[in-house]
Amino acid sequence: MKAEIIAVGTELLLGQIANTNARFLSEHLALAGIGVYFHTAVGDNRERLLSVLEIARARSDLIVLCGGLGPTEDDLTRETLAEFLGLPLELDPQALETVESYFQGMGREMPSNNRRQAMVIRGGRTIPNPRGTAPGQYVESGGRRYVLLPGPPREFEPLVVESVIPLVRSWMGREVTIRSRVLRLYGIGESSLAERIADLLAGQDNPTLAPLAAEGEVTLRLTARAASEQEALDRIAPVEAELRRRLGKYLYGVDGETLPVAVGRVLEEKGMTVAVAESCTGGLLGEMITDVPGSSRYFLGGVISYSNSAKQHMLKVPGDALERAGAVSEEVALFMARGAAEQFAADWGIGITGIAGPGGGTKTKPVGLVYIGVYHSALGPWVKGFQFRGDRRQIRIRAAKAALYALWRRLRVDGEGASTAER
Ligand code: ATP
Ligand code: MG
Repeated sequence: MKAEIIAVGTELLLGQIANTNARFLSEHLALAGIGVYFHTAVGDNRERLLSVLEIARARSDLIVLCGGLGPTEDDLTRETLAEFLGLPLELDPQALETVESYFQGMGREMPSNNRRQAMVIRGGRTIPNPRGTAPGQYVESGGRRYVLLPGPPREFEPLVVESVIPLVRSWMGREVTIRSRVLRLYGIGESSLAERIADLLAGQDNPTLAPLAAEGEVTLRLTARAASEQEALDRIAPVEAELRRRLGKYLYGVDGETLPVAVGRVLEEKGMTVAVAESCTGGLLGEMITDVPGSSRYFLGGVISYSNSAKQHMLKVPGDALERAGAVSEEVALFMARGAAEQFAADWGIGITGIAGPGGGTKTKPVGLVYIGVYHSALGPWVKGFQFRGDRRQIRIRAAKAALYALWRRLRVDGEGASTAER
């Protein structure tokens, strides 16, 4: 089923409001396994709405319109759709009662204009709207389904969840079970991801494939619909296998398995422990790790070594390394990682040192430069310099996540017996 959303309202075109209704509905349709192929915004204008409907009818099975169901002159979505379909509007007595009782509830007389809100396109059905006066409605015509919904988000959003999604599911007929799996990736940009899976994104239908980027991470949601749960999972499996083949080295977890959870799981499986030494992240990495219940089984502790003297005294970073290379350097990141492992007697140590900004950057060491060291006594050191973008908060979050991902990679590489492969 191909869906499209038409938002009606001149405010959208004037930039006065964002089209959050389209975003909200798209998200919920995607969760239900329905592909949304187009968003259109059009002003409160009969001719332009007619031309948009003409285009939609030619390319979509499900056409959802929102906005313009109110009682005023500029609210013309209902009338325009009826005209477009060549169907008359009829008064729905039950809808009229609802509109009337809404005004009674407020102790007011119903203005005659509001009668329009109880008009339903012939052959259509109303979608009750307990939070406002105008009910939604849907009608089938020429093999297309049209849904009309009120514009105010506090009415629109609950109607989507309570009525539209269940309706759409019932229209999908036999294929009613929906199953989703979320693949979680780190270290690959959204555009690079889109490039590598362009063919899969273009050909997607069942399962649908929805990428989402946030704070350096990307998730890919696969949603399949089928007659049974097993059949839905069987539809997901080959697409997931193909994604794993292409993106395996970035893919650290599935569904609710965040980066700290994934790292914790591998550490626990291997019976290993970790300690951290943090400078620019100021404890954020330790916070992320300990946010996971049960982390005491593998997290031993950390040092927030902000000053050079803390690095020297608490982590045994040699003073000449700090002088020679500077606090923000590969060398110091590694000494910090090693210091953390040794001071806490942990299998793994992580060291983070960098410039979170906004001040403190230089030409050779700009804001966003962060070195991350990972130390393991037998596997040898690993260190890498990163140039993160964003403000202070984003740089710190990205640095902590990069450190988690670096450890996750090292843990995996160790398991695969190829520890030098990615140095
Ligand atoms: P009303 O009965 O309130 O007039 P309506 O169905 O006629 O409702 P509109 O008049 O188009 O809807 O919009 C009412 C309000 O809803 C707008 O002022 C705006 O704040 C909000 N709104 C409308 N469309 C959208 C949209 N696509 N995304 C987010 N908000 C919207
Ligand atoms: Mg209105």
